[in-house]
Amino acid sequence: MAKDYYQILGVSKTATESELKKAYRKLAVKYHPDKNQGDKTAEEKFKEISEAYDVLSDPKKRAQYDQFGSDYFQGAGRGAGGFSQGGGGFRDPMDIFSQMFGGAGGGGGQEIFEQMFGGGRRGRKNPRTAGQRGSDLQYELEISFSDAIFGAAKRIRLSKHDICGNCSGTGAAPGSTKVTCSRCGGSGQIMTGGGFFQQPVPCTQCGGSGMTNSNPCKNCSGTGRVSVNKEVLIQIPPGVDTGSKLRIAREGEAGTNGGEPGNLYVFIKVLPDELFTRKGSDIICEVPVDFATAALGGIIEVPTIAGITRLRIPEKTQNGVMLRIKGKGAPALKGGTRGDQLVKIIVETPAGLSAKQKELLTEFQRTLELANMPKKTDYENKLRQRFPQ
Ligand SMILES: [Zn+2]
Ligand SMILES: [Zn+2]
Repeated sequence: MAKDYYQILGVSKTATESELKKAYRKLAVKYHPDKNQGDKTAEEKFKEISEAYDVLSDPKKRAQYDQFGSDYFQGAGRGAGGFSQGGGGFRDPMDIFSQMFGGAGGGGGQEIFEQMFGGGRRGRKNPRTAGQRGSDLQYELEISFSDAIFGAAKRIRLSKHDICGNCSGTGAAPGSTKVTCSRCGGSGQIMTGGGFFQQPVPCTQCGGSGMTNSNPCKNCSGTGRVSVNKEVLIQIPPGVDTGSKLRIAREGEAGTNGGEPGNLYVFIKVLPDELFTRKGSDIICEVPVDFATAALGGIIEVPTIAGITRLRIPEKTQNGVMLRIKGKGAPALKGGTRGDQLVKIIVETPAGLSAKQKELLTEFQRTLELANMPKKTDYENKLRQRFPQ
C-alpha cells in the first residue's frame, strides 16, 4: 500500500534536510521500542518513521519517491519480503536510530549528516582521486494534458558540459601524462587559517586533483570537458502532473578530474487543456446543459480522455452539480488506484429567444408553483422574516 512519507514524518513536501532530521528525532524518541515495551503499534510506527526518514533523507531515494511513490521501495504486492525491487529496501531502523543518536563525536552521527547533504561534499574524500561531481541540471518540460495522462517519450536538447572525447576527460593531451602538483605535493590539499583553526582546503593550483597538466588537451583546453548540445530522450510515465519531477541519472554536467556526472532533473509543466482540468488523479470537465434537460433529465455527451462517452443525468439536476464517472481519471504514477472523472454540470440560460419561445416561457412561468422552486421559496421566506412587510 502506498505510504505518504511526508505525512508520516509530519513535514511538508518541501521540507529541508534539517526539518526532516528534526521530525525524525522527535518521533523516533517517542516511538522507540525501548520506551514502548511490547507495544506493537508503537513498534510499527517506529519502523514506519525509520522507513520514511531513510528514503527522504537520501536525495536520490527522495527523488525516486517523489516520482514513483513508496511502492517503488516496497515491492508492491510482493509481500513483506519484496525488498528486491527498484528502490532497494530500507536500512535497519535501529541502525538509523543509533547513527542519529550515536555517542558524542561518534562517526555515526557524521555519516548520517553527510548522507543528509548528499555525501561527498564535505570532508572525508580522498583528494587525490576525487574529482568534482558535475552539477545537476534542471529542465522545465512543457507537455500536453494527454501526454501527462498517457505518458510519452520526448526529446529535449540540452546545452551542457560533457566529457571531452579527445582526452577522455583527463584534460591531458593524448600521449602525455599529468605531473604531481608542486604546490601541494600531490595531496590535493593545502592548509588555511592558523592555530586550532587550521583546516585543509582543496589546493588552488591543481584544484584538489593533486596533479597538474603540462600538456593540456587542445580540444578542451585541459578542462576535460567540452560544451555540447545534446539530445536526451525523456520517458514520461503516465500520470505525471505539473510539479512532477523526473530524475535522469548521470545526464547532468560532466564531472571534472574524473568525477561523476550530475543528474538531470526534469520538471513537468502540463499545459492547459481546453476541455479538461486536473485535481490530483481526478479529471474535471465542465459540460453545459440546457435547462430543459437539467429539469427533465436525459442523456448528454461527455468527453473523457479516452473519447466521448454518454452520461445519463437525473431529473432536477442543479447548476454546478458534479457527477462522477468512476475510474476514468488519471492513472496513479505507480500502484494505487486510478482517479475518477468529474463532470461539472453548467445549466445554461438560453439566449437569443424568438417571440414564440418567449411566449412559451411566459406561459410556463405562470404555471410555476412554490414547490417547483424550493430554493427560491426558502430564500423569499427568509427575506420576509428579516425585513417584514
Ligand atoms: Zn580534452
Ligand atoms: Zn595541488
